[in-house]
Amino acid sequence: MNNAVRLENLNFDYGEDFSLSIKELSLNKGEMALISGGSGSGKSTLLWLIAGLLRARSGSITVAGERMDDASESAADRIRSRHIGLVFQTHHLLPEFTAQDNVALALMAAGEPEKTHASRSRELLNKLGIERVNVPVANLSVGQQQRVAVARAIVCKPTIVLADEPTASLDEVNASQAMDLIQQACREAGAALLCASHDRAMQSRFERVIQVDSFVSSARASTQSGARA
Ligand code: ADP
Ligand code: MG
Repeated sequence: MNNAVRLENLNFDYGEDFSLSIKELSLNKGEMALISGGSGSGKSTLLWLIAGLLRARSGSITVAGERMDDASESAADRIRSRHIGLVFQTHHLLPEFTAQDNVALALMAAGEPEKTHASRSRELLNKLGIERVNVPVANLSVGQQQRVAVARAIVCKPTIVLADEPTASLDEVNASQAMDLIQQACREAGAALLCASHDRAMQSRFERVIQVDSFVSSARASTQSGARA
C-alpha cells in the first residue's frame, strides 16, 4: 500500500452554494503536492475532509490505509494523532504553554511513551532553530511560532502533513524560509505533504500541483474561477 492518502468517488457540499466532487485522488507516501486555487475555491475544505474535520456526503477517504470517512469521532482523532500533522495559517498553539509542551502534547495524543516526550520535543525544536523551548509560545515571534507548529506537526513522524496556507501570516522572506523548513522537515520525517495555497509563486516548489477548481461543480464556484482566470 503505497498511498499516503486516497480519495475515491468523494462528494461533499455546503448546501447548494458549494460542492466538491472527486472521482479519484491519491498521494503516494513521501510525495509533495500543492493544492492550488483562488480564495474560496475549496482548498481548506479538501484538507479538512482528509483530516476528518469535515464529513463527506459519500465516497471514501483513506489515510495511511485507514478509512477516515466512516471513522467514529474517537477513531478519527486517533488516525489524526498517529498519521496526520496539521500546519495551519493560524497556528492553534496553546499560547500559555511552552514550546516544548506544545510539541509534547502531540506525542501524548499519539500515545507515545511518556518518558520520551520532553527529550524528543526539545531535540526537534532545537533542530528547527528554537533554543528557548521553555518560554510560553505567546512570547515567541510569529516566525518562531510557525517553527513550533511545524515541530508539533512532524514530531510523531506522520504519514502526511496537511498545511493550509502555512505562510499566509509571514512576510516574503520568512514565508520562503518557512516553506523550506516545512519541506525539509517532511522529507526528513518521510512524510508526504499536501499544502494548500492561493499563492501561485508556490507552484515552482512542488513536483505536483493539484488545481482544486477541477473538483468544484457548483455554478457559483465555476463562475468565480472563470472570473479569476
Ligand atoms: P479556500 O480555502 O480555497 O479559500 P474554502 O474551502 O474555505 O476555500 O471554501 C470553499 C467555499 O465554501 C467558499 O465559497 C466558502 O465561502 C464556502 N464555505 C467554507 N466554509 C463554509 C461553511 N462552513 N459553510 C458554508 N460555506 C462554506
Ligand atoms: Mg482556505
